[in-house]
Amino acid sequence: MTTDPNCLFCRIVAGEIPATVVREDAATVAFRDINPQAPTHVVVVPREHYADAGMLASSDPTLAGAVMAAAADVASSEGIAEGYRLVFNTGPDAGQTVLHVHCHVLGGRTMTWPPG
Ligand code: 5GP
Ligand code: ZN
Repeated sequence: MTTDPNCLFCRIVAGEIPATVVREDAATVAFRDINPQAPTHVVVVPREHYADAGMLASSDPTLAGAVMAAAADVASSEGIAEGYRLVFNTGPDAGQTVLHVHCHVLGGRTMTWPPG
């Protein structure tokens, strides 16, 4: 499995940096975002390091599906299954700041579109 010792989310997966983990399985880890943008804001990552959603989907679509399924499971356990938003910021022009693919699970308030 590919990991990057300098990657923040690889280090959270490895337990080297503390995080509030709400769900984990063999392939994914979900933890609360340190700067929440909604009452529920959880980030789901694969344990394996891929830079972004496109790299993950093209390299390992099964793992991409596992991230999506974990995100839906988090939405259920957080009590927001009636309405939530999944976001994969992909690339610097989209505001991706951590180059380890992650799915934001956002909910607990009215989620307007376009996002404001
Ligand atoms: P991005 O902007 O790359 O889509 O999202 C990165 C997210 O990681 C941001 O929402 C940011 O608040 C979160 N984040 C950055 N550093 C940490 C950290 O050390 N711990 C946790 N739990 N979240 C972090
Ligand atoms: Zn990583």
